[in-house]
Amino acid sequence: MSNAALGESQKLQLLRKKFRDELPAKIADIEFCWLNVRKNGSRESIHAMHRLVHDLAASGVALKFHQVSELARIMDVALLPVVEGGESIGEELDEVFADYLGALKEIELDEDEIDAASCEESQSGFNVADLRCSEYKVFLLESDRTLYEDVKKQLSHFGYNISLFDSYVNLFDELSTDNIPDVVIMSVNIPGMSISAAEAADQIRKIAHEDLPIVFLSDDDDIGHRLTAARSGADAYFVKPLNVHEMIDQLDKLTGEEAVDPLHIVIVEDSATQSLYYSSILERAGMETSVINDPLDILNVMEEVSADMILMDMYMPKCSGMELAKVIRQFPAYASIPIVFLSAETEIERQLDAMSLGGDDFLTKPINPPHLIRSVAIRAERARILRTFMVTDNLTGLLNHTRIKDQLNHEVARASRKNGALTFAMIDIDHFKSVNDTHGHHVGDRVIKSVARVLQQRLRKSDYIGRYGGEEFAVVLPDADIDFAYQVLNEIRESFMAIKQHSPKGEFTVSFSCGIASYPVCKDATQLALEADKALYKAKERGRNCVVKAFE
Ligand code: GH3
Ligand code: MG
Ligand code: MG
Ligand code: MG
Repeated sequence: MSNAALGESQKLQLLRKKFRDELPAKIADIEFCWLNVRKNGSRESIHAMHRLVHDLAASGVALKFHQVSELARIMDVALLPVVEGGESIGEELDEVFADYLGALKEIELDEDEIDAASCEESQSGFNVADLRCSEYKVFLLESDRTLYEDVKKQLSHFGYNISLFDSYVNLFDELSTDNIPDVVIMSVNIPGMSISAAEAADQIRKIAHEDLPIVFLSDDDDIGHRLTAARSGADAYFVKPLNVHEMIDQLDKLTGEEAVDPLHIVIVEDSATQSLYYSSILERAGMETSVINDPLDILNVMEEVSADMILMDMYMPKCSGMELAKVIRQFPAYASIPIVFLSAETEIERQLDAMSLGGDDFLTKPINPPHLIRSVAIRAERARILRTFMVTDNLTGLLNHTRIKDQLNHEVARASRKNGALTFAMIDIDHFKSVNDTHGHHVGDRVIKSVARVLQQRLRKSDYIGRYGGEEFAVVLPDADIDFAYQVLNEIRESFMAIKQHSPKGEFTVSFSCGIASYPVCKDATQLALEADKALYKAKERGRNCVVKAFE
């Protein structure tokens, strides 16, 4: 925390202490008030109850007691149908409140929570979500400067930023300043070192943290050295001369997959207050939701969002949940999205009917929040995994041909609604046949993977990347006009041709050609694909290794 903020922060600390001391009494007040509501159900008691939980939620937010504020906020939202809609209080709400009051009492407010809270706050200013992958920090302990320069340059294309250290002491010093990298790569043959690599690894983890990935770099490729490395907790072992591509594969694994998008749940429910209640419960559990109160809006929403599951009310005016499920099942693209009905329906016959019409399951109201969260998360997660298998390409993990074409259609529809622009790009690796012929298919596959990686690394999170065919790729860039797209793809092209590809026959570089076309100049997906392909053909004619705009 900065010095300037100290006065404010001291004040905050005092208020937090007061809040902490008073919390048990506040909870008792709420409990008492709730008993009153249940006994006489008067408007006054309901309003008093609402005020109490509302205030608790608000002060929880202001004082950064996140757990308290979240629990209170849910009670606040759950009360809305009663306060504003004049609905009567049912067993469902009673259960919810018993749950949440119980949870509130169990919260232990400790002093440390403030630091975590203010840290969260300070990070939320960055729009990290705009970046597909953020850059990873790597510390390299190595005495050979040439090797460092080379590794640095190669890894930088893949989002790894390397800092060099030429002695353990320097590395330890840097770690002690709390500058902790994502990975440490250390050479085990540093001249004149006084401790063993195992001891060094131990020390590094002691200063940084226990789980810090450490990669050993060695001159020796025998079982004895490898065993020693394994015993000292090395996460990977590389022998010089270094194969940078294998290193990148390994670093990708060690730094983990890119952050997973939250599950997106579409809630179809005619009662605004009920749907708000469900969505706040699911969002509190880290999911995203889209709420539809008019069932006839469903197709628009399905086109806008990438739904992992639909939670559907059974009874709505205009059409029933079962009818709506049937409509959704008319679209092959939505076939794998689970539909779960949510209703007070308890007759088994009706439930079976609903399922035979395309529903996947039934949740009976009243449903308590933990049960709702669990049921939704399990089904949505499983459906997402299944869909990943169906829509992605095995070698690269990019969208497959069908899926990227779908996405193009989708984005054109969206752009036309919003009067926006979009660009479609087709990319084809140059002289790829000769890569296969010279270095073998296996090396060729690795080149294909490296194109995929550079695209994933450099494009925005909102862009869609597909493997169109063998050595061809397609990219949909929403909200990008042709000049912006040209600039981005041209930079990627330059970056890609700088990457040294490795093969037993030696190092080599590869380039690609690219054709781009934009909406609304091209009026639909078919014309976009056609013109981008023509532009790609022109790029090949002009000598390859360039990006060409349609109609240019
Ligand atoms: P140009 O610059 O004109 O694009 O020349 P090119 O050699 O890249 O084009 P061509 O279409 O003649 O050859 C493409 C080659 O890509 C032929 C095919 O064997 C190879 N290929 C297609 N899919 C794969 C794959 O998945 N892995 C590997 N290793 N090679 C593939
Ligand atoms: Mg209803
Ligand atoms: Mg081709
Ligand atoms: Mg080619």
